[in-house]
Amino acid sequence: MGNPEMQLAGILVYSCFLIAFLIELASGVFKRIKRPKRDIAFMVTGLFAQSTIAGGLIGTLAGLLVVNLFPDSAGGWAHLSYWLVFPLVFFTNEFLHYWLHRLAHEWRPIWKIHRTHHSAMDMSVTLLFRYNIFWTLVLPQTWFAAICVYMGQGKAAITAIFITFLVNTLTHMNFRWDLWLRKKMPWSEPFWRVIEHVITLPDTHHAHHGLGKDAHVQGNYAITVFLFDTIFGTARIPHKEQSKIGMANSERLDWKEELFWPIVRKGKAKPGES
Ligand SMILES: [Zn+2]
Repeated sequence: MGNPEMQLAGILVYSCFLIAFLIELASGVFKRIKRPKRDIAFMVTGLFAQSTIAGGLIGTLAGLLVVNLFPDSAGGWAHLSYWLVFPLVFFTNEFLHYWLHRLAHEWRPIWKIHRTHHSAMDMSVTLLFRYNIFWTLVLPQTWFAAICVYMGQGKAAITAIFITFLVNTLTHMNFRWDLWLRKKMPWSEPFWRVIEHVITLPDTHHAHHGLGKDAHVQGNYAITVFLFDTIFGTARIPHKEQSKIGMANSERLDWKEELFWPIVRKGKAKPGES
């Protein structure tokens, strides 16, 4: 990602992640959770894959693709207003991601790529970079961002990526700040009752990672715009802390398969099971 706008996006995203990670580290999250070393090792691998695959490979491939498909369109969207393009980019990214994520839970080949993100046995910001190395390749926003930069709307793409990343950070944190705020400020409850149907909160995203009671793995797919779950009938809002996180067979999964499937294969699995 040689483009200065995408470099700025990278700096913003990694700084935000580092701050959230340090907050969790300082508050003792990694002393309390079950497999901190494995979670951090997966995170480090994901960070490396992110910079090489998303930054290098996809940046180059998407760049070559748009240059060949639309050779005369460089900067073609530059004259359009940022305030028109930004919401379009943001909602398109969110919409595409909702369906990719839903497909990942309903179709085994993609599930095996997404599964790594679900095998963690506790919530923490390490999950933001916990994935099979091929997950970044199928993410629509990575490709779309490269197209936007080529078309002269890099700023819109950066803002969309940053907002999505910020919400993603807040919904993966171990600390249930939403329940805490609701308890501390009961007068704000009407606000939460509306917002929880529109924006993804820890309540709905922790449920997506949950196991057993109050879990909702086959739903709550949106990163930010929870409205898509509300509209497409996949929303469930438990208002509870989950007693367990992860998958029934989290501990039996092979780390090599988790990171490198389909290059490394270790037997059969069904969506939602393994
Ligand atoms: Zn998922």
